[in-house]
Amino acid sequence: MTLEAKKKSNLNFVNTYSELPKKFYEKKNPTPVKNPKLLKLNNNLCDFLNIDKNYFTKKSGLLLLSGNAIDKSSKPISMAYAGHQFGHFVEQLGDGRAVLLGEKKAKNGKFFDIQLKGSGKTAFSRNGDGRSPLDSVIREYLISEALHHLGIPTTRSLAIVSTGEFVERESMLPGGILTRVASSHIRIGTFEFFHYKKDMKSIKKLADYTINRHFPESVNKKNQYQYLLEQTIILQANLIAEWINVGFIHGVMNTDNTTISGETIDYGPCAFMNNYNPSTVYSYIDVNGRYAYGNQAQIIFWNLTKFSQTLSGIIDENEKRSNKLIISSLEKFPEIFNSAWKRKIRKKFGFTKLLNGDDKIILEFLEILLKQKVDYTSAFRKLSCSLENEIKKQDLFSLFSEKVAIKNWFSGWNNRMKKEKEKVNKIMVFLKKTNPSVIPRNHVVENVINMVINNDDMNSFEELMDLLKNPYEDYDDKQHLITPPKENEDIKNTFCGT
Ligand code: AMP
Ligand code: MG
Repeated sequence: MTLEAKKKSNLNFVNTYSELPKKFYEKKNPTPVKNPKLLKLNNNLCDFLNIDKNYFTKKSGLLLLSGNAIDKSSKPISMAYAGHQFGHFVEQLGDGRAVLLGEKKAKNGKFFDIQLKGSGKTAFSRNGDGRSPLDSVIREYLISEALHHLGIPTTRSLAIVSTGEFVERESMLPGGILTRVASSHIRIGTFEFFHYKKDMKSIKKLADYTINRHFPESVNKKNQYQYLLEQTIILQANLIAEWINVGFIHGVMNTDNTTISGETIDYGPCAFMNNYNPSTVYSYIDVNGRYAYGNQAQIIFWNLTKFSQTLSGIIDENEKRSNKLIISSLEKFPEIFNSAWKRKIRKKFGFTKLLNGDDKIILEFLEILLKQKVDYTSAFRKLSCSLENEIKKQDLFSLFSEKVAIKNWFSGWNNRMKKEKEKVNKIMVFLKKTNPSVIPRNHVVENVINMVINNDDMNSFEELMDLLKNPYEDYDDKQHLITPPKENEDIKNTFCGT
């Protein structure tokens, strides 16, 4: 049985989602675990959320983070949703292993969902056990926080708790609970849940709730629901451009894993690409490469068309008129995405002035990376440093097996940079701010997970997290956490972590 927490916290949750009609969720307390231990608390995020860190490092706080106790202000629920998984509609997914504890007001005045993931079975668990293996919890913490510090919208990670229990997968694995923070957990799949049931009343309720929470400015718009669609298109187009910019592959872009807020959600089989190649896939189950690195823009567009269908009845009662409005909004996607991507990639090359021939320089560089199987992150970082001196320039060239192509390209880029009419030092500062030195590479993350799980050692976790917090710095003495994997270290497959 879950207890009510005895000691008073300053959490003061509000519970606006649980004020929606009952079919939106199941009231559900987390299921207590045997022997919880706090492995990590995100101090900065606690501060941002006005959460008392000291409370959570004591026993009463641990009881909340493990789901063994419930705060007085909390009304725990698991949310209902559906979704298209790999293109196929599944009518009932929902939080099968998560409970929303409530919403917490942060320093910026906005409310954030605080959710426990891996907290036991719910009405939506189907055949699952409602639990998470600790390895996938650690992975989500590292990668989601890395994205945040790279400036990419994402759900965040507040805490890692080990449960002291085992979960049964192919083998018995230690269990964990992640405290996830999101500006909401409303997904395209949440809308699809009601759309499938032809429950227009609920779609309108959900749309009104979403607008109120994320796009309150829409009250002044001609068509609020079309505005909701267009804002989601903009947020998602920008998000995917950001992913592409840093070489991030989400890996499972199902519509239930696509938020309306534009935050990255669901860190299952995701990974950062090493060698540049648009067809890169890590996810073990993505056999056809549907969610490959270079397909992500197309896929988000597909997901957005699914979203638009759910809004069809409320955008306009008249189907023809509604379709016309929807098409006019969806048609904007290519331009929004392309200009977001271009803006970002131009920065990676240090281009602030728009000049003829820029596109060619960009595409040629990517082509050389592809042909010569060069690491994406290292190439851009070394390019950023290459103007410093001859040694740094040679350091860039050292990444390439065939030197003529890159040397020719470099002299073209160098000439182009002169047209910026800016001091070299300033250019380098600019470039380094957009090309990270550190990303959470698969093989490094795997090593950290092993250290935590097999050696009970959080030092390497902290060491990596320190770097990920400042990804644009140089770390000459931390090359083991930065350099791409050697052939025998490369991890080619990732898993859902369910
Ligand atoms: P995901 O692959 O994480 O997007 O999950 C897809 C669906 O499976 C969601 O409804 C999840 O809540 C559910 N799910 C994933 N893992 C488990 C688990 N261990 N127990 C119950 N449900 C799960
Ligand atoms: Mg999911």
